[in-house]
Amino acid sequence: MPSIFSHRVPSPSENNYQKYRPYIREDFHECCAYCLLHERFANGERNFELDHFKPKSKYDQLKEVYTNIYYSCHVCNRGKWHHWPSEELQSKGYRFIDTCRETFSEHFVDEDGYWKPISNAGKYTAERIRLNSPHNIEIRKMVKSLHNQLSDSVLDWDKPIKDQLIPLIDALLEK
Ligand SMILES: [Zn+2]
Repeated sequence: MPSIFSHRVPSPSENNYQKYRPYIREDFHECCAYCLLHERFANGERNFELDHFKPKSKYDQLKEVYTNIYYSCHVCNRGKWHHWPSEELQSKGYRFIDTCRETFSEHFVDEDGYWKPISNAGKYTAERIRLNSPHNIEIRKMVKSLHNQLSDSVLDWDKPIKDQLIPLIDALLEK
């Protein structure tokens, strides 16, 4: 099924999940699994952390499992923290969007930088992680406007923005 990111196959296996960092960073195209921003728009690599998609407070057995580790900016990781929806909420579709299994457009419509939820998972994720904070909306507007100026195509949140925008910026900066 289509997704924005995917973990490499076969999965590395280590006894300390911190060792996965270089692989996870690459698998997530240097982007946050939640706000989808590339490192360069989110205070650089040092602002990024390894997130346990299923929180280790509840799923200790998944602590070192590669496919449970997601790349996340600090703010999103802090918002997600140890939260996990109850069985009851999950039965109604309230849960975190899994960008390794799903696309953006299944859950949101981008309305001028505001990500309007169109599913309960979209609602839950946006509220919990504060994906529509004024700063997030503002930075998305900037990212989209930059992309519009550098490209004829429309920025597609279903694809990692690194692949769409960073080469154009590098060309602009003659990196
Ligand atoms: Zn983020």
